[in-house]
Amino acid sequence: MATQTQASLKQRLLTPGPTAVPPQVLQEMALPIIHHRTKQFQAIFAELSSHLQKILRTAGPVLSIAGSGTTAFEASMISLIKPGSKAITVAGGKFGERWQDIYDQYASFLNIEQIKINHDWGQGAPVDKIAQALKDNPDVSIVTVVHSETSTATASDVKAIAALTQKTDALLLVDGITSVGAMEVAMDDWGIDVLVTGSQKAMMLPPGLGYVGLGERAIKRLQEVKPGPYYNLDLRRWLKSHANNDVPFTPPVSLIRGQKVACELILKEGLDNVVTRTRRLAEGSRAAFKAMGLKLISDNPSDSVTGAYYPDGVEDSKLRGAVRDKHGVHIAGGQDGRGAKWKGKIFRISHMGFVDRDDTVAGLNAIENEFIEAGVKIEPGTAVAAFDKAHG
Ligand SMILES: *Cc1c(COP(=O)(O)O)cnc(C)c1O
Repeated sequence: MATQTQASLKQRLLTPGPTAVPPQVLQEMALPIIHHRTKQFQAIFAELSSHLQKILRTAGPVLSIAGSGTTAFEASMISLIKPGSKAITVAGGKFGERWQDIYDQYASFLNIEQIKINHDWGQGAPVDKIAQALKDNPDVSIVTVVHSETSTATASDVKAIAALTQKTDALLLVDGITSVGAMEVAMDDWGIDVLVTGSQKAMMLPPGLGYVGLGERAIKRLQEVKPGPYYNLDLRRWLKSHANNDVPFTPPVSLIRGQKVACELILKEGLDNVVTRTRRLAEGSRAAFKAMGLKLISDNPSDSVTGAYYPDGVEDSKLRGAVRDKHGVHIAGGQDGRGAKWKGKIFRISHMGFVDRDDTVAGLNAIENEFIEAGVKIEPGTAVAAFDKAHG
């Protein structure tokens, strides 16, 4: 076994956000700043918007909002709920729980009631319970669900949930922050009313932008509902500007340019090919973890990120520190939430965006090396052999 003793020459970012940014995108973002109230900016913005429509697979507008994924999702939640109505909020991980926290925060301002559906971490959203809650509560105006719950590396059946909400007056808000550009998600075909993503996961950009795809029913809702006590987060403002290839407030011009180029890379590779590449990396990684004797954290794994429990005797910060300092590989640990406490118990690696077989193999090999260093009994070479067998 070749254990590295020197710091690695290369850094490989395998955290599930932020992710690595391709050099073409970095170069574009280094160009001189242009003013945003210009024809030049509007042309770039129009191109970006049309690329985003292809990637979200929608004919509707896709808003680009300064902030992070949370900004975009919060804006959608509060702009679209009918004051005095109910929201079904589904959570089986840290991010689903965050969306519940947001409606808790606004409950009195917007006079809304939440029907929280909390399910086990590592399981997909319970479609039958959502169906029942919709049936029992005709005054539900919003359903929130996380497509790929990054904290638990778990996917939910959004297509089945959208089939339910389409038959009701409730709008479906999907957190696609780690599914868009990584997994199959077809906004219009599936009947998703609002699809949100962010720049720093599968979209291959630094943090700083959130995206909101709006379907016809969502646009109609924005027109019907009177705005509440919020300003910058009011999607009506963003939608109004968007019609003129514009934004209401000064945009992060460099990020907008960078995202246009990153979208072009995705579309040039082909969205389906990107999804296939991501899936093969995930399948290979799951096989590698299992071959090392690890237990996966998810029973219904997302292809964006793979997580496993640490074996006994491996200390989280020490392991991740060694993987980072000796191999230049950055991986993520676990998070604590209401549904589970996974800090120190699990670790995760990302398959999103600008990541290929060799990055993944380097990561898996580094993890295997450091597990062996920590005293775990693994035959050297196990992870990569299992990866390649499953990845093909
Ligand atoms: C990262 C992430 C978020 C939060 O996005 P920020 O950009 O950090 O605000 C929300 N949902 C999921 C599923 C994520 O992975």
